[in-house]
Amino acid sequence: MTTRSYTSNGLDPDITWTVDLDRCTGSGECVQACPMRILILDEGKADCVDIEMCISCCACVNACPNHAIVHSTC
Ligand code: SF4
Ligand code: SF4
Repeated sequence: MTTRSYTSNGLDPDITWTVDLDRCTGSGECVQACPMRILILDEGKADCVDIEMCISCCACVNACPNHAIVHSTC
């Protein structure tokens, strides 16, 4: 499994956001769903550009039709 994964260093509790690149098709629902606008598509795959801004709302996890995103508190 190839992933992009980020762990925060200043949140309480710290969280980890991971996308499985084998599952991600670049459909973009997660990018649209994130209220903090910290998700982008990079080379056709989801990416998180600022994990410290994540509010753990789980919108990205719930929006992904391919269950490609894992969030440590969702
Ligand atoms: S919604 Fe899922 S499949 Fe679509 S870009 Fe986001 S992580 Fe990838
Ligand atoms: S959990 Fe919420 S704030 Fe964090 S990346 Fe997903 S949609 Fe954005």
